[in-house]
Amino acid sequence: EAGLYSVLGVSSYFYSAYLLSFLFANLAYTGHAYQYLWPDHPEVQHWANPVLVIVFCLFGLAFATSFLDTRQRFPRLYKAIVAAGLLVSLLTVLSFILGAQGLAMKVAMAFLILFSLGMMVLGVLSWRAGIPSAKYFLAASITHTSAIVLSAIIVLTALDWGDFGIHIIEIAMLVDAVLLAFALADQFRILQNEKFLAEKLANIDHLTGIWNRRGFQQLVSPLWHTGLRNQHHMSVILMDLDQFKRVNDRHGHASGDQVLQQTASMLNSSARAGDVLARWGGEEFILFLPETGLSKATHIAERLRQSLIRMETGLTDLPLTASLGVAHVHARDIGMEELIRYADSYLYRAKEEGRNRVFFGEAGDTANTEAQMAT
Ligand code: GH3
Ligand code: MG
Ligand code: MG
Repeated sequence: EAGLYSVLGVSSYFYSAYLLSFLFANLAYTGHAYQYLWPDHPEVQHWANPVLVIVFCLFGLAFATSFLDTRQRFPRLYKAIVAAGLLVSLLTVLSFILGAQGLAMKVAMAFLILFSLGMMVLGVLSWRAGIPSAKYFLAASITHTSAIVLSAIIVLTALDWGDFGIHIIEIAMLVDAVLLAFALADQFRILQNEKFLAEKLANIDHLTGIWNRRGFQQLVSPLWHTGLRNQHHMSVILMDLDQFKRVNDRHGHASGDQVLQQTASMLNSSARAGDVLARWGGEEFILFLPETGLSKATHIAERLRQSLIRMETGLTDLPLTASLGVAHVHARDIGMEELIRYADSYLYRAKEEGRNRVFFGEAGDTANTEAQMAT
């Protein structure tokens, strides 16, 4: 995940550099740069045209290859692009040393055409490889390649297309910029979704589809702190299926799994909106009840115990029962784990006293924690 995000980050920088170098290449080409940016330096103007076009193409390729992950997906094409980039850079430096601006200009024009074709090829390959954002990318490369071809035709045929002919490349680049921004946004949205899903999956129990321990803790933690701050009553119910090993032993692990799924869905439909239900461990479930006093929580636990008995499991020889512990806290500054520890101790009492029952009590001072059985 982090890797994908950093790739996207790098692409955005290349994208900005690409647009910026295009802007400068264009300012140099129209003469505005000479007029405003380097008026006393004809030698700069002399070289700005070829160099800026080359820089712009290099950033464009850097953006495209990082955005489309060309290095991983098309390693040979990637190597060819890198080689072309190096060769062009070398030729540019060489013509600069030799003072051959004409050569640099030819290299720049050849590179511009190669660049446009290369972007189209990258777009088509990536689109066919199923890269979701490649369609925007392909549209962008078709736009600007057409613009370049069109302007070449205009120059070659010496037709007068008026303002359109003059601005065709700029118009295409504007469309390009918008399309590529779409591509980036699209990619970002996809990554966000993936990240969101992965995070959610990590909090869900695979077997039952309810929250797992991690999800429970993440969900309850803010509720817990709000409850403490406002001195709300809070309760937790811990439920452990009785003699569950026997279900596995007699009917097989798959049947055991099915019973666990059934139990989870029964609990899920019994829980009130706002309660947090999770699979705490193997055959143990937990229910956090915000703003709920002890008698109400005990009543709910007792109802769950009875619902479980009525549940149709298909295991006629084995009645499915559970033992439950209910713990409550009010206006005491304790941690969520401590409340759960109390619920666990009441659950233990329920097991000790013969199973299939609810024990409840306060998460209070040790002197006052005598568990009681619900009736
Ligand atoms: P007790 O009444 O004391 O709770 O008895 P028990 O058999 O339920 O308790 P114990 O802790 O001894 O055994 C729990 C059993 O739950 C053993 C384990 O195989 C089973 N179990 C735990 N997780 C799963 C699961 O995901 N699927 C299945 N099929 N069984 C599971
Ligand atoms: Mg257990
Ligand atoms: Mg058990």
